[in-house]
Amino acid sequence: MQLSKLEIKGFKSFGDRVVLHFDQGITGVVGPNGSGKSNIVDAIRWVLGEQKTRALRSDKMESVIFNGTKKRKPLQMAEVSLTFLNDKGILPTEYSEVTIARRYYRSGDSEYLLNGVVCRLKDITNLFMDSGIGSDSYAIIELRMVDDILNDRENARRTLFEEASGISKFKLRKRETLRKLEGVDQDLSRVQDVLHEIH
Ligand code: ATP
Repeated sequence: MQLSKLEIKGFKSFGDRVVLHFDQGITGVVGPNGSGKSNIVDAIRWVLGEQKTRALRSDKMESVIFNGTKKRKPLQMAEVSLTFLNDKGILPTEYSEVTIARRYYRSGDSEYLLNGVVCRLKDITNLFMDSGIGSDSYAIIELRMVDDILNDRENARRTLFEEASGISKFKLRKRETLRKLEGVDQDLSRVQDVLHEIH
């Protein structure tokens, strides 16, 4: 699977639409300090569903929208889309090319899209789960993560291996099922209370 294209419009320092094509091999991004290199990584993390503003180096979500410059007005919406070649079928979908997109408006409204169709964030996280790609996965390795893995902070090493070996999705499903079971347990005890009252 290959990252093939990133489109950014209105996200952080990108007031104009910018399209980055990633060829095979290594792509390097170079530029002076403060020119927006890290904002590209933030954009990738964001479109993959990152909700923690700290991980995006922002104080609040609205701060990801282009805030204008001396000569340009702020924009009302940030939009990022990311395209993957799914030629090896790693992502569990019939499409050989997958484009995900995220939009965020100053009003606070937001939208996720999968191949141009509005979807839930959950659809995107489910699609990428155990692929090694995700806002919180090892596809994006920051210096901070290297420290966490070396120090094994919050079980970071185990989490990494769980994602790589493809068991994260089962752990998540187990958590969801246990939560549902808890709900059923509570419903059952309520039914028993009612039955007691009737008898
Ligand atoms: P360095 O090499 O110093 O790490 P960099 O190339 O990685 O720099 P970034 O951190 O990606 O640079 O970009 C920082 C720039 O992005 C700053 O100039 C900042 O003003 C700008 N920026 C961040 N958020 C916004 C926003 N919402 N609107 C406009 N500009 C923004």
